[in-house]
Amino acid sequence: MNRDFLSIVGELSLAKKILVVGHIMPDGDDISSVLSAALGLRRLGKEVMSGIDWRIPWYFYEFEETNLIKSYDEIIQTGFQPDFVLVLDASSPDRIGRFQEFLKKINSAVVDHHGTNTLFGTLNWVDTKFGSTAQMVLRLNTELGVPYDGRLATINLMGIATDTGFFRYSNADEIVFSDATKLVSMGGKSYLVSRIFENKRIEQFKLLSTMVEHIQTENNGQIVYSYLSKKDYESNNCTEDDSGGFVGELRSIQGVELAIFLSEYEHNEVHISFRSKDWFDCSKLAVLLGGGGHPRAAGCTLKGELPVIIEEVIREAKIMYDAQLKALEGVH
Ligand code: AMP
Ligand code: MN
Ligand code: MN
Repeated sequence: MNRDFLSIVGELSLAKKILVVGHIMPDGDDISSVLSAALGLRRLGKEVMSGIDWRIPWYFYEFEETNLIKSYDEIIQTGFQPDFVLVLDASSPDRIGRFQEFLKKINSAVVDHHGTNTLFGTLNWVDTKFGSTAQMVLRLNTELGVPYDGRLATINLMGIATDTGFFRYSNADEIVFSDATKLVSMGGKSYLVSRIFENKRIEQFKLLSTMVEHIQTENNGQIVYSYLSKKDYESNNCTEDDSGGFVGELRSIQGVELAIFLSEYEHNEVHISFRSKDWFDCSKLAVLLGGGGHPRAAGCTLKGELPVIIEEVIREAKIMYDAQLKALEGVH
């Protein structure tokens, strides 16, 4: 068994007050991991608080336990003084927002599956072989002796399901299926996980239609991109939370290898999501632009005017696409 894993289990066993932290712009894996760890550690009698320094997309409140995740300000107001910090699914300190402050004073463990992780904890268990951080939390909880019921199993399953596109992406391997099976055997219900995403507002379809109108293609349709401006969100009575699955729709287009979705979530602040189908390494492009992620799913955030950012990102994407394609063809 991995040494860092065992050290983290040891620290968590000893700790009495634990702060569990997730990343900004949280996704299903992050929320699942934070809740599964927080609920698990509570079941062991620990005093636990969980925090994310970002608004949680509304559809995650389908699981009422999401209310346990507090904002940075709420946690500061309670005066909570943790003796250990557990950071989940975050690849670099900036990804946890203001919670970075805690890491300066208190021992921490980073548990994550991103190859771009900068190992910023006191202890770091980072393993890219896992399709989701939720699977790593399952291992921590199991080693710690956390009792599972159907509810905790469902919440833990949510991270595995969402980070693998409901078992459709190339990271849906044997470990993913066997961990999911384990959770289902403990009472996890995948139909309850799907409910989070089968609860769409009609405005989201209108937003999707605006996104579709903006679709552009490059490299004979192998690169596809689209965008939504702050104004597009506002005129459709939406926020960036409502465009969660859009980049996946772009990738699903026939002949597309690289899909790019640019979202102006705040005026002159743009989040860019990259997704690839078979071979393009998105994480390299994201790292070049100051972000990170996985080979098939990565992202970054840039400040500036949307049209300028679109031009810059697409230029860099095309250069890297051609370079990676050349390297790939050189191999064959
Ligand atoms: P997204 O496109 O936001 O769904 O993110 C795709 C993947 O890239 C996820 O694994 C994220 O954790 C990661 N990611 C997104 N944005 C960033 C960023 N600014 N820095 C590092 N990793 C990121
Ligand atoms: Mn994540
Ligand atoms: Mn993840």
